[in-house]
Amino acid sequence: AIEVVEDRQEDLVTRAPIVTVMGHVDHGKTSLLDNIRKENVIAGESGGITQHIGAYAVQLENGQKITFLDTPGHEAFTAMRARGAQVTDIAIIVIAADDDIMPQTKEAISHAQAAGVPMIFAINKVDKPNANPDKIKEKLAAMNLLVEDWGGKYQSHDISAKMGIGVKELLEKVLLEAEILDLKANPNKPAIGTVVEAQLDKGRGYVSTVLVQAGTLRVGDYVLAGKNHGKVKAMHDERGNSVKQAGPSTPISILGLDGAPTAGDKFSVFEDEREAKQIAVKRAQLLREQSVRTQRH
Ligand code: GDP
Repeated sequence: AIEVVEDRQEDLVTRAPIVTVMGHVDHGKTSLLDNIRKENVIAGESGGITQHIGAYAVQLENGQKITFLDTPGHEAFTAMRARGAQVTDIAIIVIAADDDIMPQTKEAISHAQAAGVPMIFAINKVDKPNANPDKIKEKLAAMNLLVEDWGGKYQSHDISAKMGIGVKELLEKVLLEAEILDLKANPNKPAIGTVVEAQLDKGRGYVSTVLVQAGTLRVGDYVLAGKNHGKVKAMHDERGNSVKQAGPSTPISILGLDGAPTAGDKFSVFEDEREAKQIAVKRAQLLREQSVRTQRH
């Protein structure tokens, strides 16, 4: 059984916020994630982000880090939530200033609210001549979402993801929100976290990206992730670098699992390899039985 041990106060250290970008189609989620990925890499860091592993971490000039789930939209967010995984600390809701509060914007807002995840509004495309950020803020106010510069509690920032305008300031607001949340985790224990994505790579076998939420994951650890298990043979970050260990809020791609777990599956490190295998086998069997049952009905 997995022992639940309360962390001691002195073991807790500040961890980076984990951020999801949501919003209506074409409002600029991908552009924002691209801009952050390209622009916000501190000088001297070994290489840019070259690998798409489903999540990435950036370090700002002040040394603080932010981890982004690199899947725009709320499908990933809801898929993870449906599996009981709560990985997002802060949601950035992207709204195009030349458009309106659209259905998917409303959906994203209600998902964040239902999950109790604080929102920051990124009013995008302000470079466009027909952009009207005030109109968006007015509409938000009508939805009971009063932004800060209008005296409300929601942070918002006018940006152009395409031109890179205001993105740095937006990230500073993310850090401010993170400070209020006082996010902490204990790195001094076996890792636990959530699977972000997984696939079979022709040359390398099963490659899974996991987000370490607490503890430290190390090469050689025995991992149980959903119905899958295995010894971590190698780990790589979003820069393609081989790494030996990954602490809280770190996204990391791992090699060594016996299959592809599902996004949203929890993972944990087991000292007892046999126990991990037994649980994995039992879960796989349960899943098979469930699928047989649904096929019959
Ligand atoms: P997503 O569907 O929310 O991921 O939106 P995309 O990032 O794919 O952007 C949709 C379209 O809007 C693309 O053609 C982008 O080039 C454009 N776009 C995104 N951000 C901006 C912006 O800040 N200014 C302008 N003018 N166009 C933008």
